[in-house]
Parts: sequence; structure tokens; C-alpha cells
Amino acid sequence: AAAAAAPPKLILDLEALQHLDAGEAGPLTRYAATIQAQRGDYNGKVLSIRQDDMRTLAVIYDESPTTLTERFISWGVLNPEAKGDVEESSS
Ligand code: C2E
Ligand code: C2E
Ligand code: C2E
Repeated sequence: AAAAAAPPKLILDLEALQHLDAGEAGPLTRYAATIQAQRGDYNGKVLSIRQDDMRTLAVIYDESPTTLTERFISWGVLNPEAKGDVEESSS
């Protein structure tokens, strides 16, 4: 691969997402559904998302990207390899 230092991918577990409390998981569920619709990608058990999407979700959840990444991992909806993947932005 050209990018030897490429960060690990951010991969959402769509099945685990369905089993979370709707109140907390609702924004993430809607965001993932929007990406699926934009791609026409409805059949997957997982969904690879952009680095930028974690930053957008951090704004939605009013958390730092790092904190939100760790929370999603603890919920079991984000691959553990994603930890530390998303750079902090100044906000
Ligand atoms: P777009 O950003 O203009 O991307 C157009 C097409 O380029 C995408 O069509 C896809 O075939 C390809 N593409 C762009 N970036 C990537 C990438 O990082 N990896 C891969 N494998 N392909 C890429 P597609 O998938 O039908 O998506 C259509 C539009 O839906 C995109 O237009 C974008 O506006 C939106 N979209 C799709 N997936 C995502 C996502 O994960 N996050 C965000 N923010 N938007 C997305
Ligand atoms: P991988 O990235 O490790 O993904 C493994 C499998 O997880 C994929 O097998 C697919 O079944 C599922 N998967 C991952 N992300 C998504 C997603 O956003 N939507 C859906 N519906 N399924 C997802 P698959 O499709 O046979 O791909 C095998 C390998 O081919 C991938 O391994 C990856 O290395 C490569 N690949 C496939 N599509 C892309 C792509 O758009 N961009 C890049 N760079 N590699 C791709
Ligand atoms: P990937 O397809 O392996 O792409 C890895 C990285 O290469 C992307 O990280 C992005 O930085 C860059 N890249 C790939 N294709 C394009 C492109 O067409 N335009 C631009 N500007 N950059 C591109 P990123 O953005 O964090 O995305 C991570 C993964 O999320 C992608 O892995 C892919 O699996 C998925 N993804 C992101 N956007 C889209 C999209 O629009 N459509 C689809 N089908 N998958 C996407």
C-alpha cells in the first residue's frame, strides 16, 4: 500500500448498534443510516466510515473525538483498533 502510516479504519458494527439504548445511540444510528443511504449500502453487517465523520459525531455528541471513540468502543459498536485514531481538533 502507498500509505504505510495509514491509520486503522473506523468500522461500525451495525448489528451491535441495533441493540443499544435508543436514547444514547440514536444520533449515531441516524448518522450511520444516512451514510448507508448515500452509498446505497444496505446489506452490510459493518460500515466503514470517514475520519471526518467521527469529528462530526463528536460535535453532535458534544464530546472530544477521543472520548467519543472510546465510548463507541465500550458500547461495542466501533472496532477497538480505532482507539487513538481520530486526531483532536481545536474547538
Ligand atoms: P462524494 O464524497 O463526492 O464521493 C463520490 C464517490 O467517490 C463515492 O460514491 C465513492 O464511490 C467514492 N469515494 C469518495 N470517498 C471515498 C473513500 O474514502 N473511500 C471509498 N472507497 N470511496 C470513496 P458513494 O459511495 O456512492 O457516495 C456518494 C456520496 O455519499 C459521497 O459523494 C458523499 O457525499 C456521501 N457519502 C458516502 N459515504 C460517506 C461517508 O462515509 N461519509 C460522508 N461524510 N459522506 C459519505
Ligand atoms: P476489509 O476492509 O477488512 O473489509 C472486510 C469485509 O467487511 C468486506 O469484505 C465487507 O464484507 C465488510 N465491510 C467493510 N466495510 C464495509 C462497509 O462500509 N459496508 C459493507 N457493506 N461492508 C463492509 P469485502 O467487501 O469482500 O472486501 C474485502 C476487502 O477488500 C476489504 O477488507 C478491503 O481490504 C478491500 N476493499 C473492499 N472495498 C474497499 C474499498 O471501498 N476501499 C478499499 N480501500 N478497500 C476495499
Ligand atoms: P478506503 O476506501 O480504504 O479509503 C481510505 C482513505 O483514502 C480515506 O479515509 C480517504 O482519506 C482516502 N480516499 C479514498 N478514496 C477517496 C476519494 O475518492 N476521495 C478522497 N478525497 N479521499 C479518498 P477516510 O475518508 O477516513 O475513509 C475511511 C473508509 O470509509 C474508506 O476506506 C471507505 O471504506 C469508507 N468510505 C469513506 N467515504 C466513503 C464513500 O464516499 N463511499 C464509500 N463507499 N465508502 C467510503
